[in-house]
Amino acid sequence: MTAYAAPVGDMRFVLAELLDTPSLFARLGYAEATPDFVDAVLEEGARFTQAVLAPLNSVGDREGCHYDPATGAVTTPAGFREAYDRYVEAGWSGLVAPAAHGGQGLPKLVDIPVKEMIDAANLAWGNFPLLSHGATDALLKFGDEWQQQTFLRPMVEGRWTGTMCLTEPHCGSDLGLLRTRAEPRDDGSFSITGNKIFITAGEHDMTENIVHLVLARLPDAPAGSRGISMFVVPKLQVAKDGSLGDANGVRAGGVEHKMGIHGSATCVLNFDTAQGWLVGEPHRGLQAMFVMMNSARLAVGLQGLGLADRAYQNALRHSRERLQMRSLSGPKFPELPADPIIVHPDVRRMLLTCKALVEGGRALSYHAASMIDIAADSPDAAEREQATALLGYLTPIAKACLTEWSVECTYNALQCFGGHGYIAENGMEQLARDARITTLYEGTTGIQALDLLGRKVLQQQGVGLKAFLGMVESFCKQHEADDVVAEFIAPLRSHAMTLQSITGLVAKRAAADPEEIGAASHDYLMLSGYVVLGYWWARSVAAAEASSRPEGFKAGKREAARFCFARLLPRIQSHAAAIESGAASLMTLDAGDFDQGR
Ligand SMILES: Cc1cc2nc3c(=O)[nH]c(=O)nc-3n(C[C@H](O)[C@H](O)[C@H](O)COP(=O)(O)OP(=O)(O)OC[C@H]3O[C@@H](n4cnc5c(N)ncnc54)[C@H](O)[C@@H]3O)c2cc1C
Repeated sequence: MTAYAAPVGDMRFVLAELLDTPSLFARLGYAEATPDFVDAVLEEGARFTQAVLAPLNSVGDREGCHYDPATGAVTTPAGFREAYDRYVEAGWSGLVAPAAHGGQGLPKLVDIPVKEMIDAANLAWGNFPLLSHGATDALLKFGDEWQQQTFLRPMVEGRWTGTMCLTEPHCGSDLGLLRTRAEPRDDGSFSITGNKIFITAGEHDMTENIVHLVLARLPDAPAGSRGISMFVVPKLQVAKDGSLGDANGVRAGGVEHKMGIHGSATCVLNFDTAQGWLVGEPHRGLQAMFVMMNSARLAVGLQGLGLADRAYQNALRHSRERLQMRSLSGPKFPELPADPIIVHPDVRRMLLTCKALVEGGRALSYHAASMIDIAADSPDAAEREQATALLGYLTPIAKACLTEWSVECTYNALQCFGGHGYIAENGMEQLARDARITTLYEGTTGIQALDLLGRKVLQQQGVGLKAFLGMVESFCKQHEADDVVAEFIAPLRSHAMTLQSITGLVAKRAAADPEEIGAASHDYLMLSGYVVLGYWWARSVAAAEASSRPEGFKAGKREAARFCFARLLPRIQSHAAAIESGAASLMTLDAGDFDQGR
């Protein structure tokens, strides 16, 4: 089994020193989110996730969820339910929900490190409470008075959990294809009928009720994505006064057997004239669901980050302890029969890749999350507008890059263990298997790439991109004469210029041939992620130097930044070259000729 120690010191560094949350929270009016209080949340979160959730990680993997075909009931792995009760008792479920609905009203950013810890400790378990947050956000924005009064408080208090029901057997990335129907009833509610698959936490034994947010079509719905509406459909019927009744017409038809996250109940859900209520406007369901999806996308990015961190810390410990061969430049530990493998350049390459992607990814994703609070609560309208644009731009980058990097980090960390990483006993292979889902659900990397390039950059005239490039330039100006950071300034400016010029090139080509967008999108996404990563590493060095942290911490940031600029950011050039080559090398081969003559 892998160990887990929450990286509270680095989380504190990102929050307090990089993002300056003490003054940010004060400016946004969160008087109660004092540095001491935020520290206490981090310490308590570390205690809970290390002691309660982490030991259940391998239990969930071995045991999985149990499905009873006779009743449709799903039982979670041993200990999961008790851990959920403790999570609720400690008040974690309502940490950042509005006080008016039973929450503690803290800034969303405070929940981000807690989410990271939960994901690192036990990703499969974390999926049960996860979607309640997005469901709460969607109902807060689009639910009517009765829906808010009825469904929010139980979810905030953790008595009910939420789900998002989009996917159907024939309909995944393309939601315009969905067929689930919603027929109006006389009392103003709707009968929902259809078959949803892959629904996370769709059925379980942790709470008395489950609140499904379901996408379905009204009888007069236009075809495609403009004809989709959102409905709130409880597992147990809910009366007008909020009291619970009999089972609603929704039943789990099975639990998927998966590559990883075995402890997470991924359910087939059959809706058969289940009672539901329309959320928001008819045919505008995607708009409402996007509130939930955006929150969930950032959350999945954090899942990637958490897994990568846990893999990295275990690989680091192993690399310090495992003795194999001597250093190329002579024994470093002559008293031992061999040197620890951390002396070998190739092992250091893998460890530093993890450190650079994990700590840089933490800064990147926490900064993106801080835009949620600024966009909601800044007293300055221009700042709110800029934060909204930045959040839109950074969300697909955080989701896709952190999850792709998670796959890379968990594989690198496993490699540090050699054959001991491949056997189940050490837990590294579970982390690698669990990480694999993060690039798939909540929109695949391919779909995030289209969202970034097609929608956020080209359709919206690059408003978020311009805001990011403005941040880069103002940082460079501020630090070009600063001895410690100067070495990063010219390369950072050059990478930002590459991003700018490649954007111009794709925009020009896309005007003549729309296939150029799809052909560039993956490389464009990853290129963007590396530029953002470089920016946060340069800023991390500056912030570490300005802090009162010990020299070892500063050296860790400085050397990891040097590694990142020297060995990871050159990937920017390779992505740029792939984009420059255009769509032809992808699109010329006839679909029927892929396997001609094989
Ligand atoms: C464990 C698990 C949990 C899940 N939880 C939920 C949940 O709670 N709720 C829910 O509604 N769904 C859930 N899903 C579904 C998940 O969100 C979808 O699997 C995912 O969105 C991809 O859809 P798909 O599997 O149908 O793949 P497809 O849409 O068939 O895509 C297949 C491949 O084609 C690519 N592709 C498709 N269209 C394009 C395009 N236009 N351009 C470029 N590439 C394209 C994709 O990137 C992908 O690589 C879950 C899935 C899993 C496995």
